Amino acid sequence: LQISLHPGGNEYAAIRASPLSMNESRALSSLTSWLAVSVGVIVVTLLVSSASIQPRNLELGVTGEISAFEGAVREYQDIWRLEGQRIVDAMERTTGLRFEASPIGVVVYEGLSNSGFRERPMRLRASYSTATERATLVHELAHRLIGELVPASFEDHPIIFLFVYDVWAELWGNPFADEQVGIESKRRGIYDYETAWRNTLEMTATERAARFKQFLIDHPPKAPQDD
Ligand SMILES: [Zn+2]
Repeated sequence: LQISLHPGGNEYAAIRASPLSMNESRALSSLTSWLAVSVGVIVVTLLVSSASIQPRNLELGVTGEISAFEGAVREYQDIWRLEGQRIVDAMERTTGLRFEASPIGVVVYEGLSNSGFRERPMRLRASYSTATERATLVHELAHRLIGELVPASFEDHPIIFLFVYDVWAELWGNPFADEQVGIESKRRGIYDYETAWRNTLEMTATERAARFKQFLIDHPPKAPQDD
């Protein structure tokens, strides 16, 4: 295809078909492949987005025990809205497990955080820093992630710590993870977090992953874990 502009008193544009030059046919064939690739990308994108109509994002229904905790409720909701998908993805990928069906009830109050179980809501402390709110959400979700694999009496901190540190580090960096280990290690009460964290971090990431893999062999998921 050639467009020639003839200068002169009688200016006109002539468009004529002519055999394609080597350069033109190269350009045309690369345009054709570009179009094919683009159409392919669009088709794949449409397939992916129709496959994700069912979001893998876990739904958390966050409420406050009393209205004084509204600020903290909003903070937890914001964390979940902005980072929930990343958190779920990192935890499921690291463990190879899948979260239970949504939604999980979460009550913000001023007391010890705990994961709850099935219909029993998770309870999260209102007065944490934003960083510790993030860290504690992952910690309590970790209890839920393996909750169906072990009896209620099972002390599961040594197991969840095998992946909680690595998930924290992946999502927010090693300094964040180290700081949160320090904060949890200072907690005193029903469980010796300090010793559990020290034992966990004496292992390398590879050793932690191997230990967790062994745990899954010993406590296999009851039903196939699938989307
Ligand atoms: Zn715990």
